[in-house]
Amino acid sequence: MEVVGHQKILKFLQRGAINNQLAHSYLFYGPKHIGKNKVAEDFISNLFCPNKKKNSFFSCGTCSSCQQLIKKIHPDFIYLGNSFSSIELTPQGKIGVEQARQIKEFLYSSPFSAPYKVVIIEDTDNLTLPAANALLKLLEEPPLKSIIILISRSFTYLPATLRSRCQILRFSFPLKEEIINFLKQEYSLKEEKAKEILSLALGRPGLAIQFAQDFKKMEQERALLNDFISLLSENDSESKFRLVNLILNAKKSPQQALDNLARLLRDVILVKLNLCPADQSIATQLKSLAQKYTQKDLQNLVNQIFKTQLLLAANVNQKLAIENLIINQ
Ligand SMILES: [Zn+2]
Repeated sequence: MEVVGHQKILKFLQRGAINNQLAHSYLFYGPKHIGKNKVAEDFISNLFCPNKKKNSFFSCGTCSSCQQLIKKIHPDFIYLGNSFSSIELTPQGKIGVEQARQIKEFLYSSPFSAPYKVVIIEDTDNLTLPAANALLKLLEEPPLKSIIILISRSFTYLPATLRSRCQILRFSFPLKEEIINFLKQEYSLKEEKAKEILSLALGRPGLAIQFAQDFKKMEQERALLNDFISLLSENDSESKFRLVNLILNAKKSPQQALDNLARLLRDVILVKLNLCPADQSIATQLKSLAQKYTQKDLQNLVNQIFKTQLLLAANVNQKLAIENLIINQ
């Protein structure tokens, strides 16, 4: 599957590879689900593939290097992600000092068959501070032929010292038309359906692809948003309790449910400012919510959600944190 958007970034990386000017470490940052991971993986498979044509930079997809990368079993590549990790994470699913030591050991050994040894860290939220410090030492004296790609939702999640060692690439939303055309071609969807999917996915190709592959997931997302809208409209103590339970028992994780709540509130703020919401298919409901809350309240709630998510990532008691967010604010 081709990368949707981000052609400039891919070209930049390709030029670096062709001119032998790749950095030892990259920070890819930008909103969730817009293709940072996909670019990282495509870049590495292009870099590793021995079958690419001269002056071209597209992997063949079929050779053993390409296949090993797709299965994430390439001996010169390790991946540390939320749903898959090449090395065992801490019991809390974090990257700690021990994992940082293994990364270092891996990068200091010579490549087995590829031109580089590569590590992708899918989510820098998972780096503990001691591990970030250990990585900093590694980046200060990076082994030859080694590349680390750090992927993050936000520029500021990573300590400034570590950031300063990375080539920084900012990812922004691809053009809507680009994603709609992609969805139509790849999944044989009609224009209307592709637009509906993109609207619910808030313009994020990664999420739009998930919905296009699984309409049931899309219906669940829509149902959760509708529940949020009706509970936020009621806004009494009874509905607040129901909101807490909805988040705690969401089919997705509470973290993801909070993502959905925050996106809804951001859209309400946009409507309040007379701007166009990301999800236009619920414009009427957003307008009615905008009349019920002040902008200050909405902004405050979005900020509190963000803080609660950081607490949840640090393994505090979920129920307490969410009750505190919804009921005690
Ligand atoms: Zn190949």
